[in-house]
Amino acid sequence: MTNARDTALDLIEFIDASPSPYHAAAEALRRLTAAGFTEVAPDGGWPSGAGRHVTVDGGSLFAWVVPDGAAPHAPFRLIGAHTDSPTLRVKPRPDTGSAGVRQLGVEVYGGPLLNSWLDRDLGLAGRVVVRTPDGLRTRLLRVHRPVLRVPQLAVHLDQDMRAGNGLKLDPQQHLVPMWSLGQPDDGAFKGFLGAELGVQAGDVLSHELVTYDLAGGTLAGLNEEFVSSARLDDLGCSHASVTALAAVAGQPAPQHVSALALFDNEEIGSVSATGARGAWLGRQLERSVLARGGTREEFLRAVGGSVHVSADMSHATHPNYPDRHEPQHQIALNGGPIVKMSANVLYATEARTHAAFLLAAEQAGVPVQYFVNRSGVRSGSTIGPYVAAGLAMPTVDVGNPALAMHSARELGGAADPAMLTAALRAFLAPA
Ligand code: ZN
Repeated sequence: MTNARDTALDLIEFIDASPSPYHAAAEALRRLTAAGFTEVAPDGGWPSGAGRHVTVDGGSLFAWVVPDGAAPHAPFRLIGAHTDSPTLRVKPRPDTGSAGVRQLGVEVYGGPLLNSWLDRDLGLAGRVVVRTPDGLRTRLLRVHRPVLRVPQLAVHLDQDMRAGNGLKLDPQQHLVPMWSLGQPDDGAFKGFLGAELGVQAGDVLSHELVTYDLAGGTLAGLNEEFVSSARLDDLGCSHASVTALAAVAGQPAPQHVSALALFDNEEIGSVSATGARGAWLGRQLERSVLARGGTREEFLRAVGGSVHVSADMSHATHPNYPDRHEPQHQIALNGGPIVKMSANVLYATEARTHAAFLLAAEQAGVPVQYFVNRSGVRSGSTIGPYVAAGLAMPTVDVGNPALAMHSARELGGAADPAMLTAALRAFLAPA
């Protein structure tokens, strides 16, 4: 049994290994493989028997544990989380520049706090498709060097800000990272990618690359109460989910299939080939039943008896802005996992699933907090309602507390990762 500090440090390692959704899926795969899972290809034949299985599709991952003797209609206990985070993504023809500075065109991905991307030493990570004699190959790429930087305008030159009007940033004009000096050179970026990957520039066909802050995560605060890191939303819950599944996978299982879905593209609304608001998850679940000899009817029966815990980060009460929160539902860092409720079902939590999660938290011995929007405020949604609606699967939305959500550097509690992990573990292995 690891202690809370070890879990927080392990979370930091997980996040530092995951600068892009593709890297996050790869890191989750690495950890699950170490825990005895066997990888199957999305386009391969799927296993017909019991065991621990995992498949990766771009930045998304599906893992499932079939106990010995499980019927094809055995229900799922499913955890969902997401691998993507708001960032700046490199445009297809990025080579640009101004005033003798070579720059890289980027597009805003999701809803970042734009100011937080200024004055950071940025690396690049993602995937690149290259031509090889054997056909197209998708390569993961991580440039862990300070190759990019978006310098903020000096305060002396920002009349608006000096007048107290706040910082105004036009994403097209003001967020273009600089990376060298000289005239822009069309094709230079592809040359750079080719050199990084050891291939000819002409064989670099396409890329999805995001910027990330090179500063790694750390414990912070007087007594190391906090985790200060990029991408806590939602690698915090992805890490807890992977850790919980890996921990229970070897136990003699009850008669349900423990499953994990890590989705890409939550931050842009989940509509994509592997997002939560589409066919992808249903396809994975159904294939896992059909491969075991089940029928469509047995798949639908399994889903009908299933429960989904959607795990995504939530807002702790901000000490400098307590008025932005619902006063009767204050949320503390290190106060334990949060159940998210919304009368208008911005969160999918319903009474039955809420109760199921309470049982899991009770079994794990961890406290539960509640997030409700301040009346009249509509905050973000998450994967929970999409999975609930798309599959007609009862869902509870939970998460860990964080501040500065969607900043390039967020802040969480150092005790919360272990508590959420313990609750998810109990959900997958009820007493
Ligand atoms: Zn999130």
